[in-house]
Amino acid sequence: MLKLDNVHTYYGAIQALDGVSVEVRQGEIVTLIGANGAGKTTLLMTVCGSPRARSGRIEFEGQDISGEDTHAIMRRGIAISPEGRRVFSDLTVTENLQMGGFFLDKAGVAAGIDHVYTLFPRLKERARQRAGTMSGGEQQMLAIGRALMTRPKLLLLDEPTLGLAPLIIAQIFEIIQAIRQQGVTVFLVEQNAHKALQIADRGYVLETGRVMLADSGANLLSNDEVRRAYLGA
Ligand code: ATP
Repeated sequence: MLKLDNVHTYYGAIQALDGVSVEVRQGEIVTLIGANGAGKTTLLMTVCGSPRARSGRIEFEGQDISGEDTHAIMRRGIAISPEGRRVFSDLTVTENLQMGGFFLDKAGVAAGIDHVYTLFPRLKERARQRAGTMSGGEQQMLAIGRALMTRPKLLLLDEPTLGLAPLIIAQIFEIIQAIRQQGVTVFLVEQNAHKALQIADRGYVLETGRVMLADSGANLLSNDEVRRAYLGA
């Protein structure tokens, strides 16, 4: 579904991705782990066209999207829930969801909101609450819900459990699996490597802009290097 082939991304003179090749197949949960600064966020953002890859090829459903702008890429059926949640604090839950449906018509927005409220009853209960007054976990649900407004085929999730309490983290991982069960393919960046690899079909380890390991989630979980570097073993 998504294929990156030898992708290089720079911020000015700084190289963040150094020949990355990654594949996400339809229906999979694929997890990307790596230390701070390894380039995980950059990889997801490069898929979205901002920053653009300087070289290499990015394919979505067999078509080259590497030259396209972010809106065109989103319209193809890719959505991102960015790192740091970034909900609009002064807007209500419903208004935040409406922002996520920015390129839909009125009926599409209404259907999107219905869909998100079915998946997240907690958000429905808080429809008129300002996002900034919600708990971290609720804000994360809203950030994921907002990304789902356009009914994407591929959902990119950047650190969805960062800074959340263990009980809420478990809920977020359950939600990610429910989203996949509904037919959405998931590409997940996580610091919480253990749980993220447990729910993953496959995973990649990124180090200083390069893919160092690629394997099934189960094999990565039992890999000695991964255990030492990322699982605290
Ligand atoms: P973290 O887990 O800390 O979020 P990451 O793996 O997501 O890290 P990136 O945020 O992709 O890593 O950063 C990769 C490299 O690119 C880092 O060296 C970082 O300093 C650099 N970088 C990221 N964003 C920018 C930017 N806007 N301008 C310049 N350099 C950047």
